[in-house]
Amino acid sequence: MVQKFGGTSVADANKILAAARRAIRAHREGKQVIVVVSARGHTTDELIALAKEINEQPPAREMDMLLSTGEQVSVALMAMAIQALGVPAISFTGAQIGIVTDSYHTKARIRNISTDRLQAALDDGKIAIVAGFQGVDEHYNITTLGRGGSDTTAVALAAVLGADACEIYTDVDGVYTTDPRIVPEARKIDRISYDEMLELASLGAGVMHSRSIEFAKKFGVPIQVRSAMADAPGTWIVAEQDARFIGASVTGAALARDEARVTVLEMPDRPGVVHALFRRIAEANIVVDMIVQNVATDGRTEVSFTVSGGDLAETLIVTERAAKEIGAGKVTYDSKVAKVSVVGLGMRVHTGVAQGMFDALGEAGVNIQMITTSEIKISVLVERSQASVALRAVHRAFELDRTREDHRLEFVPRRGQASEGSPLASSDAGSFFGSLTGMEDLVVSGVDLDEQQARVTLLNVPDEPGYAAKVFRAIAEVGVNVDMIVQNVRSASGDTRLSITVPRGDASRAARAAAGAVGDPDHVLVEPTMAKLSVSGIGMRTHTGVATRMFGALAEAGINIALINTSEVRVNVLTDFDRGREGLATLGKAFDLPTGS
Ligand code: ADP
Ligand code: ASP
Ligand code: MG
Repeated sequence: MVQKFGGTSVADANKILAAARRAIRAHREGKQVIVVVSARGHTTDELIALAKEINEQPPAREMDMLLSTGEQVSVALMAMAIQALGVPAISFTGAQIGIVTDSYHTKARIRNISTDRLQAALDDGKIAIVAGFQGVDEHYNITTLGRGGSDTTAVALAAVLGADACEIYTDVDGVYTTDPRIVPEARKIDRISYDEMLELASLGAGVMHSRSIEFAKKFGVPIQVRSAMADAPGTWIVAEQDARFIGASVTGAALARDEARVTVLEMPDRPGVVHALFRRIAEANIVVDMIVQNVATDGRTEVSFTVSGGDLAETLIVTERAAKEIGAGKVTYDSKVAKVSVVGLGMRVHTGVAQGMFDALGEAGVNIQMITTSEIKISVLVERSQASVALRAVHRAFELDRTREDHRLEFVPRRGQASEGSPLASSDAGSFFGSLTGMEDLVVSGVDLDEQQARVTLLNVPDEPGYAAKVFRAIAEVGVNVDMIVQNVRSASGDTRLSITVPRGDASRAARAAAGAVGDPDHVLVEPTMAKLSVSGIGMRTHTGVATRMFGALAEAGINIALINTSEVRVNVLTDFDRGREGLATLGKAFDLPTGS
């Protein structure tokens, strides 16, 4: 059993003793117990502030040396607490139990973990206490895994040790439909699937580190998120078949408040340009979201994307350099935006989710600056000052504040299989060591082609609340199912476009409805036959190189990309219909996979 205690749950002596008692209880039940702890209270924030007082841009290696001390304090105190209560315990740093990572300081990924020392302590009857969030690279430099990374340490240990479950103790009693600190009406979710949690976490739900969910999904580890202060059952994060999804189209909503938008103007519209840009950004290990490319006019196009606010300065430097290389125009940005997203497996079968979201935002007077979607999520970019209003409006529109009855049954988690398509699927996690692949390496499980797509584009979309709602209401009324949705930001000339894809047979109906809604048929373009190429796997967005490899392979084959959308489990691009099959073969080769369709 792995139990992880977050910062607030080990903030003072009493809380540490309470956590110690919990671990002891599990130990008395005959379990072998590993406790993973975070730095106490706001220690990590304080250390960062201290470093910045001394050096505006502290070197990343020294930052890791500094931040790792927070967790080291906690493990020692926890081991003392458990021993004071009469049970043998031993503390370890990440390096001591051989959590080996790559060398990307402050955002390192785990390569492998040697279980010997930990297993020996457990076999000795001790409770093992491990410092979360940290590891060591092959040159013995201390590394950290990124903010919130103790969750990832805990789930990784549960994975390699074959634990029955991983318990995450925190200051809320589970995963809520959205952050209860922003929306007090939020409700606890009883069970949620890995994919939904992965999306929510990566779109801003700070309750779990998204990479911990990648681990859980890859290795089939059930996670329970629960309160450190109370005994109420928490939220189970489990495989899709155990999540017992019934009915609702939206499971949760998330807000990423500190986002920044970057736009490259006047990009030449030829294969390889998008790739050249994002390759540069991926090389800097910056995670990009909401990539939107306008339909080209006069051989020029515009690409916008979002990054987290903290990455903006570096992103601008890299982007400006790339823009010069590819002969693009100016780079503009907006540092005061926020991203609001809704997530749910139910979207795969329910229609009208987009309309519901845009309606709610329109009614709340919130202007939508950008839109992107994937199979299980819709994200919009809004002005930061409207972020909370937008989140609340959307939360209410999908009735997330109402109790759902479907999850109330008793649930006994089972450790699942490693996910299909993963290099681990055929072996157990234990035999993974010594292999060349890292535990957090990207897992790509399939490439697909959908030849039934058509694209409808609305030109001259005005920058005003309620517009998207009007268009989607009209399209829903004629019963057309919308797949991809993308809208770019308003450009200097005031021209914004909204593109959607629909099944080919529905294209003209959707276009007529949209034209009727906006009252101007000249502003609607239809491309009746297009192909959608998809690459799916785990950790598709956080591994910065995936989209790049995809764009690169297509560029090399001279295939132009018309639309892009990304999620944690899939990257989709729209291309010309007659290049679809060739694109499929190209991607199959690039990712070393058999191609289905
Ligand atoms: P810990 O220090 O235990 O890791 P965190 O602060 O990282 O705790 O995570 C818990 C916090 O996450 C909660 O206090 C809550 O404000 C925030 N949060 C954001 N989104 C959600 C959500 N969907 N459900 C629950 N908590 C959330
Ligand atoms: N202490 C680290 C942080 O504050 C890791 C964690 O709490 O998960 O980000
Ligand atoms: Mg946390």
